Amino acid sequence: MDVMRSVRNNTDETEFYTPLPDGYKPGSTKYIAVFGTVMSGLGKGIFSSSLAKLLKDKGLTVSPIKLEGYLNIDSGTLNPFRHGEVFVLDDGMETDMDLGTYERMLDQDLTGANFATSGQIYRTVLDKERAGGYLGRDVQMIPHVTGEVKHRLRSLAVKNDADIVAIEVGGTVGDIENAFYIEALRELSYEEGPENVMFVALTYVLDPPTLGEQKSKAAQLGVKRLMEYGINPHIVACRAEREVDEKVRQKISVYTNVPMRRVFSMHDLPSIYLLPGRMREAGLDSEVVQVLGLGSRVNSATDAKNALAWQQFASRIGKAGTEVRIGITGKYVALRDSYASIIKALEHAGVANDAKVGIDWIDTTDVTAENVAEKLAAVDGIIVPGGFGVRGTEGKIECIRYAREHAMPYLGICMGFQMAVIEYARNVCGLASANSTEMDPDCDQAVISILPEQKEIEGLGGNMRLGGQDVIITPETVAAELFGGAEDIRQRFRHRFEVDPAYIEQLEGKGLVFSGRHPQHPIMQILELPPSVHPYFVAAQFHPELTSRPLRPQPMFAGLVRAALAYAAGEPGQSKSA
Ligand code: GLN
Repeated sequence: MDVMRSVRNNTDETEFYTPLPDGYKPGSTKYIAVFGTVMSGLGKGIFSSSLAKLLKDKGLTVSPIKLEGYLNIDSGTLNPFRHGEVFVLDDGMETDMDLGTYERMLDQDLTGANFATSGQIYRTVLDKERAGGYLGRDVQMIPHVTGEVKHRLRSLAVKNDADIVAIEVGGTVGDIENAFYIEALRELSYEEGPENVMFVALTYVLDPPTLGEQKSKAAQLGVKRLMEYGINPHIVACRAEREVDEKVRQKISVYTNVPMRRVFSMHDLPSIYLLPGRMREAGLDSEVVQVLGLGSRVNSATDAKNALAWQQFASRIGKAGTEVRIGITGKYVALRDSYASIIKALEHAGVANDAKVGIDWIDTTDVTAENVAEKLAAVDGIIVPGGFGVRGTEGKIECIRYAREHAMPYLGICMGFQMAVIEYARNVCGLASANSTEMDPDCDQAVISILPEQKEIEGLGGNMRLGGQDVIITPETVAAELFGGAEDIRQRFRHRFEVDPAYIEQLEGKGLVFSGRHPQHPIMQILELPPSVHPYFVAAQFHPELTSRPLRPQPMFAGLVRAALAYAAGEPGQSKSA
């Protein structure tokens, strides 16, 4: 198409503005964009990631991208109470929890290139403007801001040599925040050609209990709103509590110009893991292949193999016989989304152990030495997850002490690793005032602190240590066994404080084992107690939950659930009354 002839800058001679990244091959990558209509909370991320997964299953290279409406540059400063957990990618990008859903569904590591916010887009445009990049033009939402969005999408296509870039537009159609994304996608379709770009509208079918029947009006109006932007969806996916009635689908079809075979009922399912199977059954994936003309790129044998592996996993979810209860202690217990990846990691570990994992939420702000036994009476193991700030930390330390002294399986994550070190220092090494300088800046036995010299080595100044790092595993430890004898693993970090090396000798002298370390520097990354002392007492300075995948559960979680099963069964040395 003419406009694609790389008009890198619109001068007075042209109104087209299509900055193409180097190496871009028009037509080589197809684009599929998912929009939400009517309301938020439809599970757009789960739907979009399941769709991306189905395409990947067919042997296609799929690169997902979430386009966030908010102005923050990343999710690092967002309160998990409001927005759910901050999901850290291997390259250190702090993203929305949806990226976790994509990584898990696709079993694929993502990077910052898979996550855009309005703030990032505007910043790029404004930086370019300051550098004189627009050659005297007034900088406008169209074509410059939309041009930057298209550039991001095409850069992703080039970076991953993708068959498909799967785009999820954050928010709901009609929001001011995401309007320029929608406009950019309309332009993209115009430039790339209709055979290369397709649109999916997720909508919601109301089912008011007082009427007892489904109503399609909100869904019609929601999709209409998208059509006002000049985008006619190729597929309408209807979210609803119950299977969407044929008549309702017919109405939606008539109002949106989408044929009936492309108006799908995506009603509630007992588990999100059943969604890919349901979409396959309904033929949604084959409609996508047809619209985008991907038939010749699809590998049916790979598809069948992947479908079977997934189906075997999904059918085991929640079906397993033995139930164990894991207590999660933490400040954000009020909002489960703050611990989304931990919940998922436990689910994966449960399936791998043929166990159903129940979760008890334990608010540590009111846990004391006196009531800890009672607070933990119902659980077979505990996790102290990541956290920031002083609130609830003394309660966490009591929980860890109880687990250590009562052979209760324990997994500490990040803050839970640091609290385990403090507990051990206080109660085993006799360092009565041991603490972290995060809780007590003037602490005279700061076993956990910020070490300026190490931060210098890491080159991070006072900032958070973020993203994937190598961890060297000590042979013949619990960690070595968990990771199948691997000597070097890669895990994701998000922390500021760490173990002060001055105390390592003392802690190890009293039996604490540091079984995972930084490859060069004395930064402690995994701790454990030997199996002769405790059946499962393991903690990580990193976040093991971020790398757990449905078909590849993270070993530390798998180990916790295995130990919790033994604890629940009252195996020697692990009975609840030990
Ligand atoms: N607050 C601790 C630190 O910054 C732990 C961080 C975390 O748990 N993610 O080191």
